[in-house]
Amino acid sequence: MFQEVSQPQIVEITAGLLFNGNDELFISQIAIDSRQILHPEKTLFVALRGAKADGADFIPQLAEFGVKTFLVHHDFDENVFPDICIIKVADTRRALQLLAKYERSLFTNPVVSIAGSNGKTIVKEWLGQILGQKYAVAKSPKSYNSQVGVPLSIFGIETYHQVAILEAGISKAGEMAALEEMIKPDLGIFTNLGTAHQEGFESLESKLNEKLSIFEDSNLLIYCADQKLVSDQIEALFPAEKLIGWSDRAGYEFTRSVKLKESGARLILMKSDLSTHTFQVPFSDMASLENITHVIIAAMTLGQSPESIQEGISHLKSVDMRLTLKPGINDSLLIDDTYNNDLAGLKVALDFMQQQRPKRRKILILSDLLQQGSPEKIYEEVTELIRKYQFDQIFGVGKEIFLLEREFPEFFKGFTSTGELLSSLDPEAFANDMILITGARVFGFEEVVNRLQQRIHGTTLEINLNALTHNYNFYKKLLSPKTKVMVMVKAFAYGGGAVEIANQIQTMGADYLGVAFSDEGVALRKQGIKLPIMVLNTMEESFELCSEFDLEPVVFSPEFFESLASWCTIHHRTMRIHLDIDTGMHRLGFERKQLDGLKELIQANPQLEIASVYTHLVGADEEIHQEFSLSQLKAFEKMKNDILQVITYKPLIHALNSAGIVAFPDFQFDMVRLGIGLYGVEVTGKHALALRPISTLKTTISQIKTLEPGETIGYSRKGILISGGKIATLALGYADGYDRRFSNGKGYVLINGKKAPVIGNVCMDMCMVDVSGMDVKAGDEAIVYGEKISLKELADQIGTIPYELLTNISTRVKRIYYLD
Ligand SMILES: *Cc1c(COP(=O)(O)O)cnc(C)c1O
Repeated sequence: MFQEVSQPQIVEITAGLLFNGNDELFISQIAIDSRQILHPEKTLFVALRGAKADGADFIPQLAEFGVKTFLVHHDFDENVFPDICIIKVADTRRALQLLAKYERSLFTNPVVSIAGSNGKTIVKEWLGQILGQKYAVAKSPKSYNSQVGVPLSIFGIETYHQVAILEAGISKAGEMAALEEMIKPDLGIFTNLGTAHQEGFESLESKLNEKLSIFEDSNLLIYCADQKLVSDQIEALFPAEKLIGWSDRAGYEFTRSVKLKESGARLILMKSDLSTHTFQVPFSDMASLENITHVIIAAMTLGQSPESIQEGISHLKSVDMRLTLKPGINDSLLIDDTYNNDLAGLKVALDFMQQQRPKRRKILILSDLLQQGSPEKIYEEVTELIRKYQFDQIFGVGKEIFLLEREFPEFFKGFTSTGELLSSLDPEAFANDMILITGARVFGFEEVVNRLQQRIHGTTLEINLNALTHNYNFYKKLLSPKTKVMVMVKAFAYGGGAVEIANQIQTMGADYLGVAFSDEGVALRKQGIKLPIMVLNTMEESFELCSEFDLEPVVFSPEFFESLASWCTIHHRTMRIHLDIDTGMHRLGFERKQLDGLKELIQANPQLEIASVYTHLVGADEEIHQEFSLSQLKAFEKMKNDILQVITYKPLIHALNSAGIVAFPDFQFDMVRLGIGLYGVEVTGKHALALRPISTLKTTISQIKTLEPGETIGYSRKGILISGGKIATLALGYADGYDRRFSNGKGYVLINGKKAPVIGNVCMDMCMVDVSGMDVKAGDEAIVYGEKISLKELADQIGTIPYELLTNISTRVKRIYYLD
């Protein structure tokens, strides 16, 4: 934090009410997450209320841990905790923002803010690296650009920083005002306008206006004048002397011309005073060229010399800067953060690690942090972090990193270069470990990741954990706050990978998990998943497992009830069970005529505790079945009331699946069962744009072939290019879950953004696509589905449903998880 604050200051800044104050205590850290606290005495814990949880629930445990100062909502009862300082405010999130606004106001060096639809994080990272050659730069970690992320980024600014770069992201109307007030940028960069998050806005114009409002008070604004709507609006809103426009046409402050080359491009910028600067950049795609142009102009505007900018550019790469969780060798888990170079990023990675399921040991592979500032101070903080997260082994690469040797003589191993580390690294020494690999780009830690990751066969399924959270919160918002959520993670979490998804769901605060079979539940328990688990289909042979692993079977018939009840009696056990009521599905479940018998069974067998009573809708996603669904829900209400008469406690009542949550909000009862929606498919079509796809299936091109007119492709000679052409063979077949019905043009993949239709029959492990006229080579990536190829559309194409496509993906396809 830039400057410590006293409790009375906090009270003043947030217009709060103080209880048990202590004027002597100064705050130097502000935390919203109970796990991220380093100096409890000097921390202010702000209890936010989210979809996930109420921060106030952590207060007892934090008070125990030594935190002395808390900011809470006004309805908090301060009398329960007489020994800690409580500051009450109307809205803790707002108070957090006011504190950030105050801290920001003390910082007098330039603040750069980046807004726009795409490229914000990349522009921030690149600008940070280029400026970082000369200045001590503070920047938002990852994409901390939201109502809560921006305050946290501002608290990351320290007195030694010479410039701060802050991203500003909004998803609905009205959000920018708070960001503007906090960031108050001196220099603004507007990247571009896209259609993402369009849901939250009336029109594209209103979204643009809102985004631009962040620059209201900035002195300068850099923008690309080639998006007409953007340039018209900017030029209408702001005085000309504030604007630094660039364009590929003449007439703006900078005129750009681009010459594409074998690898990369040459970029020439001519200023309005006719001075010209040339830069060699290592990319040639439009998006990267746009991003780097913003970066170059911003760095020049901040006074950096073109030579030094060029020097910085040559160290950049258009890399994947996501924090990724991957399967490692010998059942280890790898957290790949090879694009991180500062403390703020390290903290994000550590927090991410902490949320994963426990492993045998925690191992940290870390390079020098390329951060300006006193190494002693920086490594003091790194030391504290390492202590807090309790690593068992540290591998350090670089120079300054050796400062850690003194602190951790038993488990620090230092290397002066990545090569040296690699030559002494024995992959077999790792098994069932959690390995966090985090280093600045120049250290080339990709090689370390390569060495320690499980061999990945050509096809991968990438899961975006932020999108998962987004989707979860979307449904949470449709529900009343007290409605519980059971997440269905059956069938390998709809193909997404049950353990990792379940772990993420557990962190997000869901209440229950649902699996199809007991072995799915056992696998979750063995990996440390603690949420209660309902099992849809339990076999008699697995009663013992259910009992041992605390799994809760669904009971759907009198015979099953009796057999489970007598098993429990014989083994002196009790068990929590769920009752499935059949109201029209006619799959499993008790029918109306069986209810009297069921009531007798419940009364006679108190060893079976009824955890819940539920039914399942057959057509919640389709309008035409609306009446039938309602009749199911009404019938269920009667039947569950009948059953409840003989139960003295309160089982949970539930009926709605993903589509039901959208279509029948009045029937939430105590809990809902969320499935497909969480995985990014909104089956009713009512909120098609509100969800984010969570998974991208990718494969690679194994070979390119050029064919003569009339030659055929694949089995049974089904594929043919009449006038010849070019095909690519992909490492993906029906054994990976790529449906054979996609054969012969029914399916397509995206290669370098272009559609390549399947040609010929899909084979077991491979398929061929038509790439005639496209610029492709072996090793290129092909996207099978994801952000740009909707599952719904693909499923329609072959007459099935997204559920089938998702669950078909073979387990031999590696799943990797990332935060974007
Ligand atoms: C799979 C399943 C769900 C989830 O359904 P979605 O349509 O994926 O939301 C809910 N309840 C039961 C009983 C299920 O089997």
